[in-house]
Amino acid sequence: MTLAGTSPLWEPCVEAGFVRDLRAFCAAQLAPVADDIDARDYYPVAPIRALAAAGYASVFLPQRYGGGGRGFRHALAVFEEVSYYSAAVGISLITIFQAQMMLQLYGAETVRARYLPQFPGGLITSYALTEANHGSDIRSLDTKAVRDGDGWLLRGEKSFITSGSAAEVFVILAETERGVTVFLVPRDTPGVGIHQGHSTATFGLRNGPHIDLRLADVRIPADHMIGEEGRGVRQAVTVLDYSRTMAAAISLGIGRAAFDGALAHARRRKVFDATVFDMQGIQWYFADAVTRLDAGRLLACRAADALNRGEDIARWASQAKLFAAGVATDVAAMAVQVCGAHGVRTTSPFGRFLRDAKAYEIAGGSSEILKNTIAKTLARLPAGA
Ligand SMILES: Cc1cc2nc3c(=O)[nH]c(=O)nc-3n(C[C@H](O)[C@H](O)[C@H](O)COP(=O)(O)OP(=O)(O)OC[C@H]3O[C@@H](n4cnc5c(N)ncnc54)[C@H](O)[C@@H]3O)c2cc1C
Repeated sequence: MTLAGTSPLWEPCVEAGFVRDLRAFCAAQLAPVADDIDARDYYPVAPIRALAAAGYASVFLPQRYGGGGRGFRHALAVFEEVSYYSAAVGISLITIFQAQMMLQLYGAETVRARYLPQFPGGLITSYALTEANHGSDIRSLDTKAVRDGDGWLLRGEKSFITSGSAAEVFVILAETERGVTVFLVPRDTPGVGIHQGHSTATFGLRNGPHIDLRLADVRIPADHMIGEEGRGVRQAVTVLDYSRTMAAAISLGIGRAAFDGALAHARRRKVFDATVFDMQGIQWYFADAVTRLDAGRLLACRAADALNRGEDIARWASQAKLFAAGVATDVAAMAVQVCGAHGVRTTSPFGRFLRDAKAYEIAGGSSEILKNTIAKTLARLPAGA
């Protein structure tokens, strides 16, 4: 089933013209390929290049680097509308977003000037934190970096890297004698190898198999160390706060698609001389779902505003992703239920929505880790507040 188009229920969080054009673009470019990307699990190079060419992959990047110069609400709209059709394309965009943010926030001007203008042209990047022995906990790492003349020498292996099959540049975390540090590693640097392990395919968010990135004495210039030596975890988590807000939008896009598809089916499908939607028990499912999706969208907008204003982004981003990811899974499961056998068929997209939604309760910060972050904000409140 190809979704006909988004319902008028979902009000734009930025000016209507921007969202109208974006929705038309996504309907034309992504709807026809979304099921195929999921079924064959490949990196969507053509859709990503098309999104970049239309300005959507760098909508918030300053204009001096060729970006759109818009705020984070516009970025939110892009992630939500893209993921309405294909969450796989959504997460392909998010690893690009993460590299842009890392460079913008912490990159030396030489590196910014070299790489940021490449994003509007469709540069593909990955964000490589995880290792075989370090997932949620990245405070110490097996990948090491040592000074080598006026540059750095990197050695180790990163695991489970999204977009890695097509990435031209990797943002990675490695440990130096001062602690975990961020580096930028172009794919074509001698010693860089990508390897597809035997168990790297996932049941959801399938934008090409995750890869292991092997760094065998990879030499990079001094300015490719990003930010401050030993401050890598803080920098990586700050970038995650930005991308978690966008991840919330991906989940909400999935949830909206499941909702729209199920509502259309329920209003068409006849049971007991009425439609499925005429049953009050079914109407209550939809009433709950639309309320929770709207609440998630308001929370994500609040988080985007926090990014724009530089407020407590850890709190807002974590709350937005935690809530949106859970709502998306619940709404996708409800959509399957309401559609009966149609919902379970592999020829309908509801299984994809459910798989993508569930995978995003783990990727990019699991729900448990997000709750820890929110609790830390609470623990910092003045006593008696
Ligand atoms: C689809 C997908 C895409 C991914 N893409 C990337 C990528 O591009 N780059 C990258 O670096 N990594 C990526 N990852 C890896 C991802 O970041 C990790 O899977 C995630 O951080 C969790 O680590 P883990 O899987 O090792 O689980 P573990 O760390 O082993 O945790 C297992 C369980 O314990 C819980 N847990 C762990 N610590 C705590 C705690 N302190 N309190 C309470 N509960 C806790 C976790 O929430 C989880 O439920 C991806 C993962 C998925 C599923």
